[in-house]
Amino acid sequence: MARLVMKFGGTSVANIERIRNVARHVKREVDAGFEVAVVVSAMSGKTNELVGWVKESNPLYDDREYDSVVASGEQVTSGLLAIVLQEMGIPARSWQGWQIPIETDEAHGSARIVKIDGARLNEGFARKEVAVIAGFQGVDPATGRIATLGRGGSDTSAVAIAAAIHADRCDIYTDVDGVYTSDPRIVHKARRLDKVAFEEMLEMASLGAKVLQVRSVEMAMVHGVKTFVRSSFDDPANPQPGTLICDEEDIVEQQVVTGIAFSKDEAQITLRKVADKPGVAAAIFMPLAEANVNVDMIIQVVSDDAATTDITFTVPAAEFERARAILEGARDKIGFTTLQSSGDVVKISAIGVGMRSHAGVAAAAFRALAEKSINIRAITTSEIKFSVLIDAAYTELAVRTLHSLYGLDKA
Ligand code: ASP
Ligand code: MG
Repeated sequence: MARLVMKFGGTSVANIERIRNVARHVKREVDAGFEVAVVVSAMSGKTNELVGWVKESNPLYDDREYDSVVASGEQVTSGLLAIVLQEMGIPARSWQGWQIPIETDEAHGSARIVKIDGARLNEGFARKEVAVIAGFQGVDPATGRIATLGRGGSDTSAVAIAAAIHADRCDIYTDVDGVYTSDPRIVHKARRLDKVAFEEMLEMASLGAKVLQVRSVEMAMVHGVKTFVRSSFDDPANPQPGTLICDEEDIVEQQVVTGIAFSKDEAQITLRKVADKPGVAAAIFMPLAEANVNVDMIIQVVSDDAATTDITFTVPAAEFERARAILEGARDKIGFTTLQSSGDVVKISAIGVGMRSHAGVAAAAFRALAEKSINIRAITTSEIKFSVLIDAAYTELAVRTLHSLYGLDKA
């Protein structure tokens, strides 16, 4: 019998009326003959509220107790959906992470799934029950304690369960009807994509597109889970297909660039006149790495005096102050004259697997941005994407310019 995982995000289960609507989507698939496992998030805003309570209780909280508190949001919605389904005449049973069990590592607060035992879910399917699974949570088998998977983690729960029970498909229902070529709030001509390659989706999610948790895309890619992003607000009787995330070989009409992403979550640091000798980059980046500060773009200028050079790099905006303090602390060891920095920058990225086989894709962007008098502060490239760092004030102009340049505008 064909199997399906259906995942519903926080806005889709925000109140009982919406949970009823979710139940109608589930009923449609049950009536079509699927064995269905549903994964739910907490009601929208709930997890933020729970996290707030934890921090208010003690900013230096014990993260096992954090997990115990924040996992409760999904416990509520899984039970409520099971009740609503039963009321509609569909046998259903809720499952918490520890009941299945979904085993994780011990990294409370951002745990990774290690193993899922599908046996109990299979027994439920044999009893013709819909399994309603609390997303975002599992259990650390070493201690038997609840562990949560990091914010947005119920996407990863859904994909992992799909892989574990060999589901034919994993449908991620959300408040948008698919994955777009760019953020439609900024680019009014953004289009919904019918298909996007796993690797492209991974880049988009890492670069700021918030539809899916990055780990869920990694998981889908590794296990080859056919994953759709679709809207829970569609009429349950007339659902739209959404966007399929799949292998790039399954995309016939491949564009060179598939999407334009942007992230304001960056800050730029420049160290002036550091010694141009072996070991300096290590002196700068080792202390940052040890403090878990993620460095992204790095540029070292060729020195004109052969004695000193300038190094520019970016860090996440949230780590900005910490990074500056670490560098000031290591000033003697690194040996720079001044530290300049700016938080008012944005990273704009173009993504597409077609870049592997096409030359000049980034060069065209540099020219288009120059024509709009937008200055580029830093550049990075990889096989299937390139990013430019520019002044935040030009975000919209730059994103729209690149969106048009690569023919992504809708007609
Ligand atoms: N409720 C959790 C969160 O808000 C998990 C999820 O919704 O995916 O992060
Ligand atoms: Mg989400």
